[in-house]
Amino acid sequence: MKLLEERIRQEGLILSDKVLKVDAFLNHQVDTELAVEIGQQFGRIFGNETITKVVTIEASGIQFAMATAIALKVPFIYAKKKKAVTLSEKVYTAPVHSFTRNEDYQISVSQNYLSAEDKVLIIDDFLATGAALIGLADIVEESGAELVGIGCVIEKSFQEGRGLIEKRGIRVHSLARIASMAPGYIDFLEADYEDVSQ
Ligand code: 5GP
Repeated sequence: MKLLEERIRQEGLILSDKVLKVDAFLNHQVDTELAVEIGQQFGRIFGNETITKVVTIEASGIQFAMATAIALKVPFIYAKKKKAVTLSEKVYTAPVHSFTRNEDYQISVSQNYLSAEDKVLIIDDFLATGAALIGLADIVEESGAELVGIGCVIEKSFQEGRGLIEKRGIRVHSLARIASMAPGYIDFLEADYEDVSQ
């Protein structure tokens, strides 16, 4: 998505050859028009599939999952990272290791909202090591729902995540794919879908 690549070039902060900060427009302050455009783009990419639910993980996937769910006219669910006292019903859970925070945590989704009848599209902000997305894919599998695909806003293609997801036979599309980066430098791969945005 050219528009997204431009914004990353202009406003992204490349902290190292592994970490990109996009707090100015995606991850902390959110450009809502861009988030809506991202949702529409995912809607176009996956719109020929039957999808009943969009699933993401709190917190930074929520705005993109919501924009995508609006485009597809379905509900979205965000997996919770801490078990809330209000979450008294049965849950699907999966362990996730966070490399950015160097900690393990459990993600959970209420069994009330995901079942074998669902066809799920997973959406997240970053695809890096793939740990978070694989945790979500495990939850979808545990529920018996069909996983239609995974959409990521930014993929760091030099990390192992995409390969691990493809190895499981899951369809994955990312709107910006970073081949390599370093402070003051960023190189994108070609889009893995037909980019009809401006
Ligand atoms: P994973 O390594 O599991 O694919 O990524 C887990 C989460 O870490 C992503 O959803 C994202 O929130 C965060 N993350 C990974 N790499 C980066 C990065 O370079 N920049 C930012 N801002 N977040 C990242």
